[in-house]
Amino acid sequence: MADTPFDRFIDFVECKQQHTALSGKYNTLQNKRDALEAEITERQKVLDEEHSEVEALKREVHLVELEGKSLRDREQEIRRRLPQVTNQKEYIALTKEVDEIERVEDTNENRLLSLFETAEQREVELSKHTSTFKACLNEQTKQHSELIMQCDRVQKEIVEKQETCVALEKLVEAEQLSEYKRMAATLDSPVVLVDADHCLACRFRVANKDLVQLRRQILVQCKNCYRMLYQRKK
Ligand SMILES: [Zn+2]
Repeated sequence: MADTPFDRFIDFVECKQQHTALSGKYNTLQNKRDALEAEITERQKVLDEEHSEVEALKREVHLVELEGKSLRDREQEIRRRLPQVTNQKEYIALTKEVDEIERVEDTNENRLLSLFETAEQREVELSKHTSTFKACLNEQTKQHSELIMQCDRVQKEIVEKQETCVALEKLVEAEQLSEYKRMAATLDSPVVLVDADHCLACRFRVANKDLVQLRRQILVQCKNCYRMLYQRKK
């Protein structure tokens, strides 16, 4: 139990530090969650686009097939009319038309074949990509649920830590608290631990005479970053 003003102040300071660390942890988790959601959305979008392309190709195949059928019908109709033709001029015109239709049919069939192959190929690719996406989505959904749970856990810890900080703040001497708040307005972690004779925030070496003060549990100011330094009793 903290029994000196120094201990009470440092308990409060460390509670604040833990609160800041938890907030940082929460932000990191939240960023990971956002990134994961964006990734899933993006993958879904790519797959949807691929799906639309395959559908468009299939529609095109269908249209070309219809065009082919109408060409065949027209050709048959002309061929039926040919024996009934009475003059040479009409006969030539009709056979010319048949030739033209056959030429178009030829082009149409080549186009259909190529479209059909492309559509088939794209459909196979889409099916592969869909399987990969589903497997990946399962994994990502698990990760996402885990991140949500972690976020909730940390959020709860933050609330609890905040309550502890408020309780500890009441035990800090008024003058020390207002000094802390004044510094906290411009500095993150205005009071930091000395780690192996160095300021934990800026790694500046603490002078020997200050180290003596610190051992007596007196706060000293870092000559480099102006934060207050402290040392816990070993
Ligand atoms: Zn420093």
